[in-house]
Amino acid sequence: TPSSRRTTGPTVLALANQKGGVAKTTSVASLGAAFAEQGRRVLLVDLDPQACLTFSLGVDPDTVERSVHDVLTAGVGLEEVVVACDDGVDLVPSTIDLAAAEAMLLARPGREYVLRTALEGLETAYDIVLLDCSPSLGVLTLNALTAADGLVVPMPCEMLSHRGVGQLLDTVADVQRILNRDLEVWGILPTLFDGRSNHAREVLADVGERYELPVLEPPIPKTVRFAEAPAVGRSVLATARTSKGAQAYREVAAALLARM
Ligand code: ADP
Ligand code: MG
Repeated sequence: TPSSRRTTGPTVLALANQKGGVAKTTSVASLGAAFAEQGRRVLLVDLDPQACLTFSLGVDPDTVERSVHDVLTAGVGLEEVVVACDDGVDLVPSTIDLAAAEAMLLARPGREYVLRTALEGLETAYDIVLLDCSPSLGVLTLNALTAADGLVVPMPCEMLSHRGVGQLLDTVADVQRILNRDLEVWGILPTLFDGRSNHAREVLADVGERYELPVLEPPIPKTVRFAEAPAVGRSVLATARTSKGAQAYREVAAALLARM
């Protein structure tokens, strides 16, 4: 049965969208760094077998001995796999092993609750946990939505990016009904925004109304600075401290903090 709202413990936010390339991972790394700048204790969880978040925070997935895969399939505690990162956040890394977790979990009763249970067992205190989802609506993403207080949906400001949002919101409704009645959609996060494009501005103006969802502000500008950051294992908040992109993520983080 759906469990009731936790009164203690961190605020858990899932960043999900089953489309790839919408800036889920970039947003998790950047918002995590922004929360850490604000003095919050932050845990980031890489739930994608591609391990892009792990790599972008300076951890080589090929050298990780224990990962989120062991947490989800072998009952290993989150504490035992956490890595401290230069951005001032803790990371639960992923590896390609996670690709097999989906099938292993399918045979398990309560498979959607494994991550939630692991987070409830955390001994280290965190203020905020961000979950970086894979581009699918499979068991791993259901685990994220079941563990989360809030969902943030990163979405580029292009018409084609809308496809699939209806399906994501149907899944959210199912999760709210069956697995986690406390899950709330905190908003759409407009990403890869080109302010010079009329089309992008029209999409931005329309998207909230279309889905009857809040739109987080400001939109995250499209800039090349984001391409440089992962290669040095830091987020854009460290590699381009004063860039518009870094500043936009700080403002979105402040808006999210205000809601916590
Ligand atoms: P997802 O996790 O949704 O697949 P990523 O965060 O990996 O998406 O981003 C996809 C690509 O877009 C990456 O190469 C990333 O560097 C780039 N990117 C993300 N945000 C921006 C931005 N605001 N401006 C320019 N490039 C970006
Ligand atoms: Mg990603």
